[in-house]
Amino acid sequence: SARGVAHPELWPAAKSKGLVDAKTEAFVTGLMAKMSLEDKVGQMIQADISTVTPADLANYPLGSILAGGDSAPAGGDDRAGPDKWVETARAFRAASLAERPGHVAIPIMFGIDAVHGNNNVVGATLFPHNSALGATHDPALIRRIGVATAQETAAAGIDWAFGPTLAVPQDHRWGRTYEGYSEDPDIVRQYAGEMVLGLQGQAGAGQALQRGHVAASAKHFLGDGGTTNGVDQGDADVSEQDLIRIHAAGYPAAVDAGIMTVMASFSSWQGAKMHGNKSLLTDVLKGRMGFDGFVVGDWNGHGQVPGCTADSCPAAVLAGLDMFMAPNDWKALFTNTVAQVKAGTIPMARIDDAVRRILRVKTKLGLFDPARPFELKDGVIGNAEHRALAREAVRKSLVLLKNNGQVLPLKAKSHVLVVGEAADEIGRQTGGWTLSWQGTGNKNSDFPGATSLYEGIRQAVTAGGGTVDLSADGSYTTKPDVAVVVFGEMPYAEFQGDIPSLEFQAGDKQDLALLRKLKAQGIPVVSVFLSGRPLWVNPEINASDAFVAAWFPGSEGGGVADVLVGDMLGRPRYDFTGKLSYSWPKTAAQATLNRLRQPYDPLFPFGYGLRYADAKPVTVPQLPEVSGVDAAAANIDTYFVKGRNPAPWSFVLRQGAASVPVPGDGTATEVAGALALKPVDAGGIQGAGRQLSWTGKGEAAIAVTGGNALDLTRQANGALSLQVDYRVDEAPAGTVWLISGPGSG
Ligand code: BGC
Repeated sequence: SARGVAHPELWPAAKSKGLVDAKTEAFVTGLMAKMSLEDKVGQMIQADISTVTPADLANYPLGSILAGGDSAPAGGDDRAGPDKWVETARAFRAASLAERPGHVAIPIMFGIDAVHGNNNVVGATLFPHNSALGATHDPALIRRIGVATAQETAAAGIDWAFGPTLAVPQDHRWGRTYEGYSEDPDIVRQYAGEMVLGLQGQAGAGQALQRGHVAASAKHFLGDGGTTNGVDQGDADVSEQDLIRIHAAGYPAAVDAGIMTVMASFSSWQGAKMHGNKSLLTDVLKGRMGFDGFVVGDWNGHGQVPGCTADSCPAAVLAGLDMFMAPNDWKALFTNTVAQVKAGTIPMARIDDAVRRILRVKTKLGLFDPARPFELKDGVIGNAEHRALAREAVRKSLVLLKNNGQVLPLKAKSHVLVVGEAADEIGRQTGGWTLSWQGTGNKNSDFPGATSLYEGIRQAVTAGGGTVDLSADGSYTTKPDVAVVVFGEMPYAEFQGDIPSLEFQAGDKQDLALLRKLKAQGIPVVSVFLSGRPLWVNPEINASDAFVAAWFPGSEGGGVADVLVGDMLGRPRYDFTGKLSYSWPKTAAQATLNRLRQPYDPLFPFGYGLRYADAKPVTVPQLPEVSGVDAAAANIDTYFVKGRNPAPWSFVLRQGAASVPVPGDGTATEVAGALALKPVDAGGIQGAGRQLSWTGKGEAAIAVTGGNALDLTRQANGALSLQVDYRVDEAPAGTVWLISGPGSG
């Protein structure tokens, strides 16, 4: 019943010969002839390593394991180096290859979110996130980053990176905007094939793993960046033409480059969940575009298809899903899927097609070859060459938005005050998907070999004969010649980064106060803004003499200093070459700015970026400081809950110390508005029996149980109860938590 495409002929058609070759197909045919139904269904399931052990493979011959953003290798240490990851990978690999009567041993495939370098492994090189790479406008750089990422992933024993993200984000409130290269389809189109070639190597050049490459996964197919209001996992209510022209832009290039896997999107197109969309997954992707690798689901995404649950979803297989990402319900899913094939609900031909695709990829990848020259290879993870590459990417990604009075480049022989907690915190500079899913709370000791922004500035300025002080709050003992203030968004991932408006620090503005304080003391202020996306920062720009968009630069944030700090004679050492790949808003309401759409009235347009070499210095005038967004709406805190382990517990949601007023006789929209729960609401509330209703005022009491599902119902005491799945490592069931800020909990 999923909404289908009306014009298959308008979609780009296959160009390359794909992954099929006679030798591989003959090998796969030979394997499949000996496989039982259980062997085949097992191949179609991927479990998270937090819920499966190598011993389980004796009864459940799974095709793949993943380590989700919060999952740690053996021993449970999510601050693990490569040795632990390799130990884990080897244990699963050995178990998958153990001989059992009546069963064909197939090597297991290990996937991970290596989305800005191998960001799970301590000591790895962390590249700037994709919104930063978009600003480099440098496709060749993208391929080199792909190569380095692949090598650092293969060195940790991992076979498969869940990237590149080919989203073309159209609403910057979306928490995954930074995972996309650009709001502009052309950049995504130019980068897609380069990243695939970097990660996987040239198709046909031999087995990938043996050459230090890994399998890639283009994601999330399709329209993840097109959801209404930028709601994560929401509905892309766009025309078929826009789906082709904007959101599909990167996929033909990825297929041409030999992409081995494509990940289905959590989102819907015109109300139909992508995991159940046969028209797009099978007819368009595999048919028209000629994709002959396999389609993997996203984290329990199949469970969101109408009529499905996390442990049963024939509809997704029928639609064209080849491998379920079933992090925790894989046992029941295995049993149910086997039964559904026996009952004829899923035809054997569909199973055979899925398994052939999976085994084709495993063969091409090199999983059947025990030689792994890159695994634990010395001098790969975090090596000097990769760090230099990451630093180059940082330099090229910086966008200079303002440089009034030519305060930049910093004179080397000056006294510089580097201000802000983020200046010397690598965790703040690396963003989400870094060692843990949300990327927060990391200590500098978790990033051996990294160079913070502060450290980069310190080295450059002291080398030039100047002096540098570091200050969290802007206080100093000797008045500086200039202050470099580093501030911006805290790290976040997925819907935890969805925001109700683009206003930076709505209602708080503590960094603005800091900038103004320094200005008032007569100190020239250079702002280095860390963010995954453009935000409304007119007041902060007004309060700065120079303003640099530095995105989430990664482990080599120190590279910012290469461009900021001049040489002994005060000349630039490197110019600013970064140009916006996302339009910068003039008001906080401009979340969907895009030169493809009218009216287009940005503060700084797509492609903007000042250079030292500009003939005439550009002076940025004072900017309007009314955000254009309803102040009350902008003051609503945003709360998010998602989790991955079914640990039941509960807490009460309040706004600060006060109760959240909930409107009487509300509707789902009103509750969403009152609590700003909309992103979770739209993405997570599914199916029957999950009601949003209440009367009167109260607090939302949140009880956490399972699934991606939410249950918001009225309790006897008048509170609202909301059922979600949340990962809790230490809090005992029944703990009452006060959620006091965006994304906390
Ligand atoms: C994300 C994917 C990711 C997967 C595995 C999901 O929640 O949407 O992008 O690859 O988790 O961690």
